[in-house]
Amino acid sequence: MLVPNTPGTTRTLRYGTAAIAEAAALIAAGEPVAVPTETVYGLAADATNPHAVARIYAAKDRPSFNPLIVHVRDVAAAERIGMFDADARALAGRFWPGPLTLVVPLKPDAEIAALVTAGLDTIALRVPRHRAMQALLDATGKPLAAPSANASGSISPTRAAHVVASLGGRIPLVIDDGATEAGLESTIVKGCTILRPGPITAIDVRQYVAGEGRGPVSNRPGGGLESPGQLPSHYAPSKPLRLHATDAADDEWLIGFGAIAGDDTLSATGDPVEAAARLFDALHHADAAPRSRIAVAPVPAEGIGIAINDRLRRAAHR
Ligand code: AMP
Ligand code: MG
Repeated sequence: MLVPNTPGTTRTLRYGTAAIAEAAALIAAGEPVAVPTETVYGLAADATNPHAVARIYAAKDRPSFNPLIVHVRDVAAAERIGMFDADARALAGRFWPGPLTLVVPLKPDAEIAALVTAGLDTIALRVPRHRAMQALLDATGKPLAAPSANASGSISPTRAAHVVASLGGRIPLVIDDGATEAGLESTIVKGCTILRPGPITAIDVRQYVAGEGRGPVSNRPGGGLESPGQLPSHYAPSKPLRLHATDAADDEWLIGFGAIAGDDTLSATGDPVEAAARLFDALHHADAAPRSRIAVAPVPAEGIGIAINDRLRRAAHR
């Protein structure tokens, strides 16, 4: 059923049963696939598979790890992953399916790769309205992490041709279902705050969270968190972290890479995509380890290694 892709070629298939079946098979195999939503085209991968999520970053050539929005089929699926208070429930009830993303506490037992949330204990969730993304969610039965399907630094794609122009040769498949409706990324809400303005306005949101005794919804100064790495709540280990370590002192937990074995390793084979997939788990693990400091072996700053190094520098500077 799955037609293998010639490495380096991107196929475009018109939305339909065959396209969804092929996309679902690719996602089950850990590949990212471009799919339209009502906002922009997304690059979707299995949010429970860290290697698949790392491939999103590799394909986009993103220089840092921003937490990704996870798309699910319905409110029940969202509530299996995140913890919803009354306001979040009211917003979900009114605006889902639709271009609203809710940031809520992540359930500790949710099966979500740490790379999706960049190690945070909150998660951004959305139930999309577009038939192609809904069909893909049904066919995979998985939560799908999906940032916009464009190379880092270029504008968000609203047509399949934009995706091909930006990511052609880097992803196996684009599902083409014409131009997207909103053409603007989803509104992101956390509690009573709009983190990113979007198709659903502050006025819309206020009606559903302005319960008794609540202050008004505020837009964050600066208009949100869209620039990579600007998230103030980025996960950082609680211990000092030393970079470019080739060996460890007695009080250091060494996170290895390639030939440098360490107490743990990002990738024994020196594979940067595997290293990205393991990064946040390795940092959490090191934080919990019985040593007072953390050391990390050098990771080459190429491809997805640039994002890994960006993240490690931030973790070292506290
Ligand atoms: P994108 O998926 O590229 O449309 O963008 C994802 C946006 O959601 C970024 O601006 C992130 O900063 C934001 N985001 C995702 N997860 C969280 C979270 N747990 N807390 C706050 N913001 C988040
Ligand atoms: Mg984007």
